[in-house]
Amino acid sequence: MTNSTSEPSTSKPKTCMDSEYDSSILKLEQALSRIVNSIQSLPSSEQVPIQRALDRVLSHDIISPIAVPPYDNSAMDGYAIIYSDLIAAKEVQLQTVATILAGTPYDGELSPGQCARIMTGAKIPRGADTVVMQELVTVSGDTITLNTNPKQGDNVRRAGEDISPGEVILKQGHKISPADVGLLASLGIGEVKVFRKIRVAFFSTGDELKPLGSVLQDGQIYDSNRYTLHAMLSRFGADVLDMGAIPDDRHATQTAFITAAANADVLITTGGVSVGEADFVKETLEQQGNVSFWKLAMKPGKPLTFGQINNCWFFGLPGNPVSAAVTFYQLVLPGLQKLSGQESIETITVKVPCTSKLYKRSGRLEFQRGILEKNPQGELVVKSTGNQGSHVLSSMSKANCFIILPLECGIIEPGTEVEVQPFFGLV
Ligand code: AMP
Ligand code: MG
Repeated sequence: MTNSTSEPSTSKPKTCMDSEYDSSILKLEQALSRIVNSIQSLPSSEQVPIQRALDRVLSHDIISPIAVPPYDNSAMDGYAIIYSDLIAAKEVQLQTVATILAGTPYDGELSPGQCARIMTGAKIPRGADTVVMQELVTVSGDTITLNTNPKQGDNVRRAGEDISPGEVILKQGHKISPADVGLLASLGIGEVKVFRKIRVAFFSTGDELKPLGSVLQDGQIYDSNRYTLHAMLSRFGADVLDMGAIPDDRHATQTAFITAAANADVLITTGGVSVGEADFVKETLEQQGNVSFWKLAMKPGKPLTFGQINNCWFFGLPGNPVSAAVTFYQLVLPGLQKLSGQESIETITVKVPCTSKLYKRSGRLEFQRGILEKNPQGELVVKSTGNQGSHVLSSMSKANCFIILPLECGIIEPGTEVEVQPFFGLV
């Protein structure tokens, strides 16, 4: 069992509803609905070949022009027969009149007492309605004897069984998966219209940040947020514009905002959103655009800014690396999905027992980092990744899920059921 050690409570353990909650601070759901209600999808779309359509978002419904499968065909290597030949017969012998391969249909029609050897995917000949697996017949010359009592229609894949012509097969707003690419190909569709990729600019703020490759002096750290953001945005499928690290300087921050707003649909910054002496992000946003909110009742991620500079949406994430990643997944991602025309995606969570003690104070919704795993009995359980400090980026790296602890709850004792959001499909 792993114990979370980052925030040992010095005071007595808090109970549910023992709240420090400040009602002027926004809840996550309120912030989220402000974001998704403000943002509309970009109108422009482009035509792309399906080989380049993976992870793109459809800007129109896909309607099937054909039936899939297009004709009745065999699901097995075997013998196509006429089911009525079997009725009332004790032992059935049939005469093989043809061999039908996939791609080479048989022109003739089976008459009573006849059958055709048929391969998987080959068209069922006229007259036949059932296929018997080749392992269930005895062959003697061109005569077969059935060693089974099939049901009518066995092993026949019906025309249109998967898709009928005119059916809406994929909807506008759907993000295209590898299976969708194959599905489109099976309909003969080689190109689709997708929303254009959104362009996301981002920069870090902080005098202490140094680029990779430089030697750190006292008081300096490497800029990790910009790389996390680059990776998260690339996985999301945005066109990225990396604007580097900006010093804690009013003029430099203002200039960077102007450049980003002129060149991107979204600007994401990290750091400088608190009320520290060197925090110019919120001030610049107030001057150049508008601030929608900036304090959230969630941990990590309390100082967070959402707003707009002309036509460019703005997310000012906290500087702490875990806070930046958590707020990206919980708040920015739904906004980016809406902007890129993607249908809203339901957050999948599961309730499982937690094997660690989790430290928490009531008053803020918390996203702790967890490892979802099977215990020796094969049951799903979750444990903490350990130190939950918002500077401990290795906690995100070790984790495969968020443990979502509601606003009101306090310390979690081992064995308590907690809500878990797997990273699968998210990270
Ligand atoms: P701030 O929000 O600017 O007050 O930063 C909060 C904490 O996050 C400080 O410890 C910063 O040094 C750290 N931090 C800010 N930006 C980055 C970054 N790009 N990469 C790594 N750490 C950062
Ligand atoms: Mg800073």
